[in-house]
Amino acid sequence: MAPLRNGEIADLFDLLGDLYELDGAVVYRVLAYRKAAKRFRETAESVWTLSEQGRLTELDDIGDTIATKVGELRETGTMQALEKLRGRVPESLVELVRLPGLGAKTARKLWQELEITTLAELEAAARDGRLRELPGFGERKEQQLLAQLEAGAAPRKRVFRLDQALELARTVLEPLRAHPACERADEAGSLRRRAESVGDVDVIAASADGPALTAWLVAQPFVAEVIGQGATKASILTHNGVQLDLRVVPLASYGNLLQHFTGSKGHNVRMREDAQRRGMSVSEWGIEDTETGEVFRTPDEDEVYRHLGYEPIPPELREDNGELELARRGALPELVELGDLRGDLHMHTDWSDGKHSLLDLVEAARAHGHEYIAVTDHSAGVGMGIGLEADGVRRQIEAVQRVRETLDDGFALLAGCEVDIMGDGSLYLPDDVLAELDWVVASLHVAQRQAPDRITKRLLAAAEHPCVDVIGHPSGRLIGEREGYEFDVEAIVAACAANGTFIEINAQPHRLDLRPAHARLALAAGVKLVISTDAHRLAAIDYQELGVFMARRAGATKDDVANTRPLAELAALRKPGRAVRA
Ligand SMILES: [Zn+2]
Ligand SMILES: [Zn+2]
Repeated sequence: MAPLRNGEIADLFDLLGDLYELDGAVVYRVLAYRKAAKRFRETAESVWTLSEQGRLTELDDIGDTIATKVGELRETGTMQALEKLRGRVPESLVELVRLPGLGAKTARKLWQELEITTLAELEAAARDGRLRELPGFGERKEQQLLAQLEAGAAPRKRVFRLDQALELARTVLEPLRAHPACERADEAGSLRRRAESVGDVDVIAASADGPALTAWLVAQPFVAEVIGQGATKASILTHNGVQLDLRVVPLASYGNLLQHFTGSKGHNVRMREDAQRRGMSVSEWGIEDTETGEVFRTPDEDEVYRHLGYEPIPPELREDNGELELARRGALPELVELGDLRGDLHMHTDWSDGKHSLLDLVEAARAHGHEYIAVTDHSAGVGMGIGLEADGVRRQIEAVQRVRETLDDGFALLAGCEVDIMGDGSLYLPDDVLAELDWVVASLHVAQRQAPDRITKRLLAAAEHPCVDVIGHPSGRLIGEREGYEFDVEAIVAACAANGTFIEINAQPHRLDLRPAHARLALAAGVKLVISTDAHRLAAIDYQELGVFMARRAGATKDDVANTRPLAELAALRKPGRAVRA
């Protein structure tokens, strides 16, 4: 059969996982298939080819069982396990499992007790009031579900995250820039503006020989399918199902075109209207003086802005949020940069669910150039048998102390904790334990489905707690999976401002939480942000860059971010009594 793309293989493994779950299989098996699907989706090389070469188990999370199944898929066009399950479980049930807030257990009950197997049947049953008969359902949940279905709730969409898009862009841009026919090349579109997720990846290049570059692109190993190829444009699909468009333009107008294709649309429309009022007409090819007919073209994007009377605007700010007015007055904020950060204040070790030891983390952080870090393993309130009880926290404080005694180069190691904000708004650990810690992140992991006012009350209680330094991943969103709980952002931001509580920008690529729009509110209220990686493995130390992009999208300066300061200066911003003993 024709080779399947990575995304297609991943879809089959997701299906396998969902069907197994509906069939009541043990959890680890279901998780193994989902992990495999995720890994396939994120692999740049062709999974099909790797399987042909017998190299599939070189990928993380892929063992012999999965590799064998992919081999079977190549040879037979399907998988025996999948066919068997299809005979037992109606495949349309998968749509139900993928509805937000409705898991496999419920879907199984709906099927076996009410014979519901499709979204249409589910909606009809909700309308007839038949769902409330199911144990654990109730009238409120029925109404919620109906409202959701009527609002067009669709199964989760797959999105391409910023970190994945950046990686793809780097894979393309590095060799492209080295190509003898290429004079300049950059990513454009929402990726260049560092949006949290992107639909496709746009690349633009300056060259006098377009056909050479489009021919180069379609021959690259990451290309699964060529959608179109011309003299100045080529579109391809990668093995992980992302569309990448390359546009080749003349160097003389490169700055104009880069500005145009970076967007956003709203930003460009406002800029053109503004130019018109000043007797200029802006197109992607140049800026025409409407009186003289003279056209201004430039290879340098900054010159486009200067010609129109603005200071150059960083791509992260081009969202039509008032940036043009600021640029006109020369009053744009000087945005925070990756190099400004001095430490990381949310990191896990194998004391909870991190993958590495305390010592390895300290070594990696020092090698990275950090001046300080806080070790913030979970409290046991997170559940799933993961976190620390009070005595465990005290033992870890001692362990941190012992490591600290070996540090003689000024590197500061803070004993911290990511304490859970429980369903009633209390913190999982007693106050006397929290008071012994150098750094406390308070996060909400449990009871996320409470009504917005209850969530708000819990976050307020945490913000007002004298031992809490920062609210971790404040909205609980998971990019491409869930929006996060609703809460009164302005109330939380006001409470943080009043109490001197920091707010985190969590740089995990699937979180990027606080989101930029909310971070703007925080900055307007005078709250300082903390950019943290929430690292669970050493490679995650590099995620700080993603957090910096979010802060820049919010218009944050170096001063707005607490962990750009040396530790002693950061201490001065903290709540009374929250001094660092390090
Ligand atoms: Zn957390
Ligand atoms: Zn964490």
